Amino acid sequence: MTAPLFVVALTGGIGAGKTTVANLFSKHGVPIIDADVIARELTELGQPAFMDIVDHFEEKILRSDGTLDRAKLRDVIFAHSEARKWLEALLHPLIRTEIERQMARITAPYCIVVIPLLFEVQPYAFIKRFLVVDASEETQIKRVTDRDKTSMTKAQAILKTQIDRAERKALAHDVIHNDGTLADLEPQVEKLHQMYLEMSRKPF
Ligand code: ATP
Repeated sequence: MTAPLFVVALTGGIGAGKTTVANLFSKHGVPIIDADVIARELTELGQPAFMDIVDHFEEKILRSDGTLDRAKLRDVIFAHSEARKWLEALLHPLIRTEIERQMARITAPYCIVVIPLLFEVQPYAFIKRFLVVDASEETQIKRVTDRDKTSMTKAQAILKTQIDRAERKALAHDVIHNDGTLADLEPQVEKLHQMYLEMSRKPF
């Protein structure tokens, strides 16, 4: 029988720096599974969730080339909470199955699973450790508006649908502070990486 995998879940609010932090762990050779990447793949043309989404939201959710208009879908789900709940109910079980499939192939001592809405959805039993990337709301909004050319109002609306910052931090075992520079992240990642390696060697 193979040894159980030590799984660290990485989460944080929109624009807090989850992908940036995951990339730094990846440089240490840590396998990364990303729920957002999986969600995107599941909703590509012809993939399992694609037709369900088109049936539900109708063709107005498509671009002229027949692929999903993700910006439009995002606007719809953040304007209508029942639409968001419907989409989450469709995608989360499929995402969970795919995460488990990818975990089964990992031979490294531990892995990181990036789950943006970790504390908003039902618990994942396989997670051993919760890591939160934390940044102030001002920083989050600035990064999202700079990166996506999204309006401040939209960024604030998305933030409001997510768990409160203090509540998220209270649920974390470990917190990475990301209000500083990219260089400030590296020592924090390095320290946690050594700790997770150590933890994965002991019975858990
Ligand atoms: P989302 O929730 O939208 O998926 P995220 O939490 O994965 O976002 P990132 O994409 O990692 O966040 O970061 C958001 C933006 O902020 C990116 O453009 C990234 O390059 C930038 N960024 C992240 N951390 C820092 C930092 N410490 N200094 C400068 N820019 C940063």
